[in-house]
Amino acid sequence: MRAFAWVGLFALISMTAGGCGTPAPATIVTTTSMIADATQRIAGPHWKVDCLMGPGVDPHKYQPSASDLGKLSGAKLVLFSGLHLEGKMVDVLEKPAKGRKAVAVTRNLVEADLRAAEPGLETIHDPHVWFDVRLWKKCVEVIRDELCELDPPHAAEFRTNAEAYLKELDDLHAEVLAKAAKLPANKRILVTSHDAFGYFAAAYGFEVHGLQGVSTAAESGTQDVETLARVIGEKRVPAVFTETSVPSKGLEKVLSTVKQKYKFDVRLVADHDALYSDALGESGSSGSTYIGMVRHNIDVIMKALSQ
Ligand SMILES: [Zn+2]
Repeated sequence: MRAFAWVGLFALISMTAGGCGTPAPATIVTTTSMIADATQRIAGPHWKVDCLMGPGVDPHKYQPSASDLGKLSGAKLVLFSGLHLEGKMVDVLEKPAKGRKAVAVTRNLVEADLRAAEPGLETIHDPHVWFDVRLWKKCVEVIRDELCELDPPHAAEFRTNAEAYLKELDDLHAEVLAKAAKLPANKRILVTSHDAFGYFAAAYGFEVHGLQGVSTAAESGTQDVETLARVIGEKRVPAVFTETSVPSKGLEKVLSTVKQKYKFDVRLVADHDALYSDALGESGSSGSTYIGMVRHNIDVIMKALSQ
């Protein structure tokens, strides 16, 4: 009887330990959805990837909520973009925490890879590196290496997944180059809400103009509107592009200035054709993955500027 009672008690303790005492599945937290997409591709089913900034969210202005802080404190690994993209989260991301590692996925990029930001900002580099697919590959390699260090028993699988993904990114880079090459050089003028496409422009041969600079935190002024209207007017740019993570009001002002001063109508590419700049799209949309985002953007740009 006594032995039976002990077994019963042990079973009860084990059940309790396996019930409410079980910790929630360990997670990796990412800031942007581009990082979450790459991380999930590499981690497969082994890790839960929690993304703080959903579709249409502007990372430059993003302030972490109380629930975000809870997610960050429970994470084993935090992957963020860096180069001051998450301008309002720098303190939170860089604050050391026991049992948690926080890594900027851009950490392996060197000075020669990076574009300068306009003067007067808190950052000296343009943070939008994901629009040169070759630079994004270097970020994906950081994600792979961090996952292997975090979870050595699955490292071989992570390496295989990363290799397949990096190969897809090689193909994507070649695809964007081939598509862009079909547009005559004098038509490759990309006008957007904010200056997110500098790396894209440099990699794929475009001239780029943003109404706002590399951060949306600094508002555009009347002078910016006039300057951009002149570029569009003098070069007869047929279309300008809104972005899913930035309000289109500023660009609308530019277009009415162009109409008034230069007497022609410019198409505002918007709604489901808006470019994905700093965030992926809703699940099921053309921009729900990084590869989908890049492909959507080049296809929309080609169609609008070919006319
Ligand atoms: Zn941006």
